[in-house]
Amino acid sequence: MKSIKIFAPATVANLSCGFDVLGCCLDNVGDEMIISLVSEPGITITKIEGADLPLETHKNVAGVAVEALLSKYIKEIGVEIEIYKKIKAGSGIGSSAASSAGAVWAVNHLLDNPFTPQELVEFAMEGEKLASGNAHADNVAPALLGGFTLVRSYQPLDVIKLNSPEDLVMTVIHPQIEVKTSDSRSVIKHNVSLKQAIHQWGNVGGLVAGLFTEDYDLIGRSLEDVIIEPLRSILIPEFENVKQAAIAKGALGCGISGSGPSIFALSKGMNTANEVAEDIRKVYAKTGLDFDIHVSKINSQGIKIID
Ligand code: ADP
Repeated sequence: MKSIKIFAPATVANLSCGFDVLGCCLDNVGDEMIISLVSEPGITITKIEGADLPLETHKNVAGVAVEALLSKYIKEIGVEIEIYKKIKAGSGIGSSAASSAGAVWAVNHLLDNPFTPQELVEFAMEGEKLASGNAHADNVAPALLGGFTLVRSYQPLDVIKLNSPEDLVMTVIHPQIEVKTSDSRSVIKHNVSLKQAIHQWGNVGGLVAGLFTEDYDLIGRSLEDVIIEPLRSILIPEFENVKQAAIAKGALGCGISGSGPSIFALSKGMNTANEVAEDIRKVYAKTGLDFDIHVSKINSQGIKIID
């Protein structure tokens, strides 16, 4: 039996202007998983701690993603999966993506890497399809590749790893309310005006350019979403106040993490990110809602072996 323990990171998808195409990987927020190759063929989820999630292979995103991988592999393989959940499901920081990406990355590693990172993204997307009905890659790609990623195209899949400026730090607040991915998808309009589209693709280009040139002001100017955020933010209590507080403290930008309810703020430097955390904590303390706050550097490596 061959076995590894991995860190499967949380991720922030969309990054304001890049709905379904941009995402980035967090460094100190994530699940742990132990993945083993065993002699008995088949995929078994033997343990889940920290969350009430299905053990049945076909109902768990980790099982479904590994099934997709093994269907493209020639030999009969046995896989056992243990999941130690730290990222709450439905938080908007890639809980399902951490499990599907982590599982396929680990199995690929144990099999001596027969698949490319891009192929792993495709397998992990099958897990995302189970979680939300939509095979999006904006969380699994940064979990697998690390840093910031862009899904340039879904058909065919073309995922690009972007540059990660060293000083960028994420502050994420997770209000413990349930926003169903289906609800946050249903408020979105399926048609956008040309004016909105021009605004949005200008920002996507600006953000990508800002990441590569390490121009923090350009990154900040580009963290703007004129299409999704105006519609989705109404589902998140105190969104506008959190955003105002973060920007007032010096964050480069602030927006909805994935489909919410988490809100992210991106700052230059750990000090600013910690100060942003303090001020958005004050905004949320008044609501009486439970919430978590994370401050994390960007993890340019992605999933990694631990212990
Ligand atoms: P997030 O926005 O944090 O990624 P999602 O809403 O995309 O969360 O996914 C959570 C959904 O996926 C829940 O309905 C959960 O029951 C289901 N799910 C199945 N397996 C897992 C798993 N291993 N980890 C997390 N969620 C899972």
